[in-house]
Amino acid sequence: MNTRRKQPSTSRRTSHIFVSPKLKEQIRLGHPWIYRNAVERAPVGLLSGAWVRVQSANQQAIGIWDESGPIAVRLFSHTRIPDAKWVRAKVEEAWQRRESIRAARPVTTAYRWIFGENDGLPGLVVDLYGDDRSQGYWAVVKTYASSLMRIRKWVMDALSAFIELRGIVDRSGEGWSMLAGSPPPQEMIIREHGHYFAVDVLRGQKTGFFLDQRDNRLTIAHWSRGKEVLNLFSYTGGFSVYAAQAGARQVVSIDSSAAAIATAKHNFHLNGLDTSGHEFIVADAFELLQRYYGQGRRFDLIIVDPPSFARARHQLSTASNAYRKLNALAMRCLRPGGVLATSSCTAQVSPQLFRTILADAAADARRRFIIQHEAGHPLDHPVAAHFPEGRYLKFLLGQVVERN
Ligand code: SAH
Repeated sequence: MNTRRKQPSTSRRTSHIFVSPKLKEQIRLGHPWIYRNAVERAPVGLLSGAWVRVQSANQQAIGIWDESGPIAVRLFSHTRIPDAKWVRAKVEEAWQRRESIRAARPVTTAYRWIFGENDGLPGLVVDLYGDDRSQGYWAVVKTYASSLMRIRKWVMDALSAFIELRGIVDRSGEGWSMLAGSPPPQEMIIREHGHYFAVDVLRGQKTGFFLDQRDNRLTIAHWSRGKEVLNLFSYTGGFSVYAAQAGARQVVSIDSSAAAIATAKHNFHLNGLDTSGHEFIVADAFELLQRYYGQGRRFDLIIVDPPSFARARHQLSTASNAYRKLNALAMRCLRPGGVLATSSCTAQVSPQLFRTILADAAADARRRFIIQHEAGHPLDHPVAAHFPEGRYLKFLLGQVVERN
């Protein structure tokens, strides 16, 4: 063990971390994670947030050390220790990458500005929310480790160079806090492809809205006209609003959160939609499907978008079983030839595994699932080619037909 003491935080000198030579290739490609169990030698007493030089065989990269958690180092650069200017260049790159969202009509005012590893800033996410009424913008920051404090201030300063922000909210831990400016209005209303949604960035799930399903909602709009639609795990009615707006005959929205369902109803009103022909139900999706199946209630289009079923690799088989059960149940509640639009946001479930799970689910339901459309997340959630973990969302849509 190298016993060199930690450097003062202002020091430009960095400690050396030696990791398994097996990581040489992934480091060369730019993969930003060094798991703790790959660290072979590190100075004793190194504090979270310290810049370190990682050495794996002949490969070197520079990153931030973390004392706790499975990821010991997040790598940022191959050539230099990042500073405010370096961070600002990354923020600018990410800003430009999203230019087409700002230019698009109908309008979208909420999108992910920095998607961590994929935008070159590992462990840090920034979502931008524009309020339609006040025309003000708020940034919501999420850091995945305390060591990211090393760069957070630089990121915040950089954000404000591109757009005037009324406030910057931190949603890293439980609850929220303001990092700068003032909190958003009680009711912030964003626009997404021209649809209106009330968003609570301080208390809502994730950073307030599931921005990653934006373009998949548009796909649902194209498949909804004249249909009886069941939206399971609806949250605040993202898919439901698009379906109803596009002329669905009826939309049934289900979520276990009463607050989410109340907002879903409110979102129908914000879009000038009459709620009387639609249903808003607080329930467990598994139980409700079982009940509908028993009652013989059937739909033309069922949307399935559950929360992640696994946080770690060892939960993979539990997650697979849950997806299989849920999708089989949903398929049983479709009319013959009905359409299933099903998602998985579990990163550990690969697109190929998800297809296999759905084939199993179809067989369980004595059906076949014919995939007609497959997607992931939209362009504000880019996936770095060297970081396959970045591709977490799977969205598959297709007809469910009788087995014969
Ligand atoms: N489709 C939504 C996002 C869904 S997020 C959108 O486009 O915005 C997953 C949702 O599932 C959350 O709102 C959560 O409250 C809900 N949920 C979690 N477990 C549930 C269960 N067992 N039954 C119904 N809803 C559940």
